[in-house]
Amino acid sequence: MPLIKDIPAGYNPVLPDEVFFEEHAERAYMEAATALLEPTVCLECDAIFMEGRWRWGPVPVSANQAVCPACQRMKDNNPAGYVVLAGPFFHEHADEIIALLHEQAERKRLENPLMRLMEEERNDIAMMITTTDIRLAHFLGAALHHRFDGDLEYHHNAAQDLLRVHWTR
Ligand SMILES: [Zn+2]
Repeated sequence: MPLIKDIPAGYNPVLPDEVFFEEHAERAYMEAATALLEPTVCLECDAIFMEGRWRWGPVPVSANQAVCPACQRMKDNNPAGYVVLAGPFFHEHADEIIALLHEQAERKRLENPLMRLMEEERNDIAMMITTTDIRLAHFLGAALHHRFDGDLEYHHNAAQDLLRVHWTR
């Protein structure tokens, strides 16, 4: 995936309404999860599917086996969320900004096994971080804006349910 600042085809601007993303992603996710037996353990990361969602915890002795949606996206190299950072302020304070993103992403990962960072790529113009879940990308954009201000834009690809978050300062 080349690091680009332009919005690819198929994406439309959306307002940064957190409720929309929470409800929307939860709905898509529940539809995909109905096929799983409980309990199921992920063969890659040991997350457990129990009581209708993936969570961290002790693996039950008699668990079924599957690959969780986050690990599947990582295996397929198929991100759901893209966070693109650019601008002079970003480049001057990159270490601090990237540290904040890592800290916030780790907090989310501990809460929900499906929310993980995938890859990071950086050049002289911009940095791109990919995520396994659109809610994580959405959250990271909001966290940056909350802490550092700047310009924040969300573009959603409805056909594939992908989110691009562009933050510039
Ligand atoms: Zn997994």
